[in-house]
Amino acid sequence: MAHTIETARSGRATCRTCRQAIAKGDLRFGEETANAFDDKGGTMRLWHHLACAAKKKPTQLAEALATFDGEVPGRDEIERTIASEAPKQKPTSFPYAERAPTARSRCGECQAAIEKGELRVATPREADPGGLANVSARYLHARCAKGAAGGEDALEALRRNSKGLEAEEWEELARVLG
Ligand SMILES: [Zn+2]
Ligand SMILES: [Zn+2]
Repeated sequence: MAHTIETARSGRATCRTCRQAIAKGDLRFGEETANAFDDKGGTMRLWHHLACAAKKKPTQLAEALATFDGEVPGRDEIERTIASEAPKQKPTSFPYAERAPTARSRCGECQAAIEKGELRVATPREADPGGLANVSARYLHARCAKGAAGGEDALEALRRNSKGLEAEEWEELARVLG
């Protein structure tokens, strides 16, 4: 998905974060997301003020900023907000690894419960999800993910998508998935 930053050509769009209008002439952030009403797999854009996106969608905004070559008023402040908020954000793409926040999930491979605090790998329930908004996760014990998400590439994808895991946790994942 390609997220964008552009100048609002009218004042009609509403920010999806704060629900206030985005003024004509202001920069706005467009999150590209799968259009649930289009069965041909089309996409749509959800607009946000840049300052709002920095708090709610930091990872996506950082992606858009990286390819935007115009002037961004208050960019330093926006970058600071992104840096502090991004680690708290839920992952935005599968597969990702995390510590199970509860003991309620069950492993999609071995069917046993995944304990609270245990490392788990989240993969999409459907083959081609087109974004986390549309599909629920299938959780696996890290040790059970070897078949489903094993190998070098999987570890790389996990590194790209996961948030806030420590070096030791990556060592453990490399050991069980490698
Ligand atoms: Zn807003
Ligand atoms: Zn398992």
